[in-house]
Amino acid sequence: MMEWLQQYDFVVAAFLAGLAASIACGLGALPLAIRGLNLENKVGLGYAFAAGLMFSASVYNLLLPAFNMGTQAASEIWPVLKTLGGMAAGAWFIWWIERTVTPEQLQKGFLGTLGGRTGALVFLAMTFHSIPEGIAVGVGYGSETHLEAGKGFGHYIALAIGIHNIPEGLAVALPMRLQGMRLWKAALLATVTSLPQPLAAVPASLLVWLFEPLMLPFLGFAAGAMMYLVLMELLPEALESRTRAETAWLFLAGFGLMALVQVGL
Ligand SMILES: [Zn+2]
Repeated sequence: MMEWLQQYDFVVAAFLAGLAASIACGLGALPLAIRGLNLENKVGLGYAFAAGLMFSASVYNLLLPAFNMGTQAASEIWPVLKTLGGMAAGAWFIWWIERTVTPEQLQKGFLGTLGGRTGALVFLAMTFHSIPEGIAVGVGYGSETHLEAGKGFGHYIALAIGIHNIPEGLAVALPMRLQGMRLWKAALLATVTSLPQPLAAVPASLLVWLFEPLMLPFLGFAAGAMMYLVLMELLPEALESRTRAETAWLFLAGFGLMALVQVGL
């Protein structure tokens, strides 16, 4: 019995790694506890900064790994086409949500508690984007057992995703805090957006053969959803109270911070 269970150690490892990554996402909300940040006066700047973080994460954590996955050259056409197809579907998905779910519905009920329309859309998009990331963790742990060269592969992916989750948690919590949500609740909801990571990691680690071919369109889908949201919601929101120059600078600051996080590995 014990030996039978030990065979599935990698599944437990994938789940725990995904869970640790989710907690890292909640930690991202903590800088918002700093007093004197005077968030109310900086709403527009906060949106621009969160937009930069999300855009950068889409590029570095979703698009670039997808373009290069399984290829030696960076310029092979099929991975790029599959990813771009997923990207179009992701953008279409958010566009469809915006058209189907009215602003009133987004203000009311459960979605309304997420910090208004923008907060609710950010919450939804970030939760969805965690699914392919969880699959990546699971596939990483699952293929470790098959590949001789795959030792530590799962750990590496989980660590990368956990670290980039910290600024992503900040991006989720920012619009919520700006709407006056309590800090602990914003941190909790940031953690929730990452829960698909441990949950998706389990089936993906067991069924690598099934999930691996789906990775490219999934990664593209998540990037498309996030980029669409940045362009259609976060940046216009920032421009409502801030100048174009301020918006551009804060966007670039957020983009730069996420890029630095990537090399901090
Ligand atoms: Zn992410």
